[in-house]
Amino acid sequence: MPPSIQALTHTYFRHNKRFPHVWCPGCGNGIVMGALLRAITRLELEKDEIVLASGIGCSGRMPTYLDFNTLHTTHGRALTFATGIKLANPALNVVAIMGDGDATAIGGNHLIHAARRNLNLTAIIINNSIYGMTGGQYSPTTPFGSTTTTSVYGHIEHAFSIAELAVTAGASFVARSTVYHAALADQLIEQAMMKPGFAVVEIISNCHVQYGRRNKIGNAVEMLTAFKEQAVTVKKAATMEQKELQGKVTIGVLADRDLPVSTDEYKKIRERARAAQEES
Ligand code: SF4
Repeated sequence: MPPSIQALTHTYFRHNKRFPHVWCPGCGNGIVMGALLRAITRLELEKDEIVLASGIGCSGRMPTYLDFNTLHTTHGRALTFATGIKLANPALNVVAIMGDGDATAIGGNHLIHAARRNLNLTAIIINNSIYGMTGGQYSPTTPFGSTTTTSVYGHIEHAFSIAELAVTAGASFVARSTVYHAALADQLIEQAMMKPGFAVVEIISNCHVQYGRRNKIGNAVEMLTAFKEQAVTVKKAATMEQKELQGKVTIGVLADRDLPVSTDEYKKIRERARAAQEES
């Protein structure tokens, strides 16, 4: 039986700090936080074995509420801080928590190269298609034609797929869920945290305040209902024509492959360098 929300709250929240939280009622960020905590509970990791690093944005607040080793860093740089921590202490289980603007605009280069290097990290990317905290500007995942505060007559750029970008860039493990599929989200986060190498979990989320309302998609419940209707599993998607997949969101594991892991390779290089020095 999954742990109750009371048990998770009691065990992992920083009760005497940072509350009440800043998220709007119904925001998907809380669902992702619950999924992360359920995954960590199942993995039976000690709090001190975990590091959460975030950038800037609504999702960036998550580590500040949780009682792990945490860093709330600068915009787009969660992965750079996470990289430094992992190289300094490879035994730590390091998770970067980012939003779509944070991870794929200012932090886009870091995401691509973290995947290419196959750093042994987990990246949870909450994709709500907008910059929520800063007032509803379009991000690299805002759909074409959408209305935002920086595209009041319709967005003229095309969104890219975070998960497919991560697959192409070389991540060991890539998966996608939505906040409607909360139980799937925590299973995927659990798999990602156990996977050696760079693991990306994209979670499609609702910013009903800055995106849903402006685009007449509706409130939080209506957005979650839409995610339910749009989602198709990886298995089902494999049987569908490209045109049938228009407007759908593929959920599940998109890539799971064993590749050389950066921290392991770095250790080998150090050993080779040390041996060469001793010989000389
Ligand atoms: S602005 Fe959007 S992303 Fe930010 S807390 Fe509110 S609903 Fe969530």
